[in-house]
Amino acid sequence: MKYLQNYINGELTDAASGNWLDNFNPATGEAYSYIPDSGSGDVALAVEAAQKAFPEWAATPPSQRAEMMRRIADLISKNLTELAKAESVDQGKPASLATRVDIPRAVSNFRFFASAIEQFATEAHITNYTTINYTLRQPLGVVGTISPWNLPLYLFTWKIAPALAAGNTIVAKPSEITPMTAFMLSEFCIEAGLPAGVLNIVHGLGPKVGQAIVEHPDVKAISFTGGTKTGRQISKTAAPMFKKLSLEMGGKNPNIIFADCNWERMMKTTVQSSFQNQGEICLCGSRIFVERSAYDRFKSEFVGMTKKLKVGDPEAADTDLGAIVSQQHFEKVMSYIALAKKEDGTVLCGGNAVEMNGRCANGWFIEPTVIEGLPHNCRTNLEEIFGPVVTIMPFDSEEEVIGYANATEYGLSATIWTENLTRAHRVAARVQSGIIWVNCWLVRDLRTPFGGMKNSGVGREGGNEALRFFTEAKNVCVKL
Ligand code: NAD
Repeated sequence: MKYLQNYINGELTDAASGNWLDNFNPATGEAYSYIPDSGSGDVALAVEAAQKAFPEWAATPPSQRAEMMRRIADLISKNLTELAKAESVDQGKPASLATRVDIPRAVSNFRFFASAIEQFATEAHITNYTTINYTLRQPLGVVGTISPWNLPLYLFTWKIAPALAAGNTIVAKPSEITPMTAFMLSEFCIEAGLPAGVLNIVHGLGPKVGQAIVEHPDVKAISFTGGTKTGRQISKTAAPMFKKLSLEMGGKNPNIIFADCNWERMMKTTVQSSFQNQGEICLCGSRIFVERSAYDRFKSEFVGMTKKLKVGDPEAADTDLGAIVSQQHFEKVMSYIALAKKEDGTVLCGGNAVEMNGRCANGWFIEPTVIEGLPHNCRTNLEEIFGPVVTIMPFDSEEEVIGYANATEYGLSATIWTENLTRAHRVAARVQSGIIWVNCWLVRDLRTPFGGMKNSGVGREGGNEALRFFTEAKNVCVKL
């Protein structure tokens, strides 16, 4: 059993409590490592180290900060196979997916923001050539980052990279459910020679470690990704302290399919947008609305393709869906399938836990599940399930489907399938989501604003939005 450690002031340390938490492999249902059960004392040490490191890191020229970030990126890249395997063991996702998506994206996050900070410019405003205003964008100081379990290293580094690039020092908390690759990252930071205290990683439970980071008066900003309920709790604590907040939260994303779409492309992508990463991606399209004239064809082809997906050992190369991240989450997803049946939904395929043999016999696996016959406003269609479960529904008009799409409290992403250009733009403008994909899904350009509307988010990540979040704008007005 491996013991993971915190990374504080450049060193790997145990929690002050001396206590440990079990870390599970969801494919086997067994605890396979321990993480420090840290608390507010550990967070206080991390903040102190970050404060001490801040003046020098903030004064380090952007090109040197970028150089350090590229060194870390190189180490992640060099250890891609090992990291992908670790991510798969920790999270349950197929190792092939972590190899193709999660770990390469962590490398890109560091490389992208290393380049971005070298290109980052600020504004100047000239007033009648008698007055010049220019804007300084200065790092905030110590910032806190808190991330979830579904894309562990991918999202952990998506926050750390811009914060570091902008000259902040960090206290970061990975999810206690998937801590392994964040721990490995701390080892790479030491190897790369990142100065002590610039990045601190504190492991442990959300209500203890996360809450302590949010509450700490010397942490100037919080960048959070996770559930809407947690985001609300963070807001409650941070708002009276006037901390800068970036919140990326839950979703219940519509996938709107018009009959005139490029059918093959839509079918292939819709299977992915429904079930990739076991449906545990905040951007998965879990409510599929299909124009009535194409509904029967869609239903039979989609169910056929879903039945062919292989639920299996995350280590196997031919596995499409791996394990559900934890027993608790497994039970939550199964409870929503039971709810859908209670609400008179018809399960067209899936709907059951998968009984595995061999080393995965005690793991948490669920069949990809397609449900029909539910109204757009029942609980199954309004609440986030965050698993391999989608509902399908027919619609007759554009107006009607826009109403369905906007019926939830969420507004993260949406997908629109049509070959009608005017309609695509018209619907994109009216769907209440921060991210709209037309005739594609999860195609990312890291320069674009990323985030949700309504209860899915506050603020945007990505590109200059992230660099602006992690800096304070200061206007300097000079009279000539
Ligand atoms: P979660 O809210 O339970 O946990 C997220 C993080 O917050 C964890 O590190 C957790 O330890 C910490 N936390 C928990 N309680 C806290 C508290 N009181 N104070 C501070 N921190 C606390 O979410 P999760 O279950 O890990 O992740 C799943 C959720 O994340 C889903 O709702 C999903 O939609 C969302 N998500 C959103 C995005 C996005 O970009 N919008 C991306 C990925 C996941």
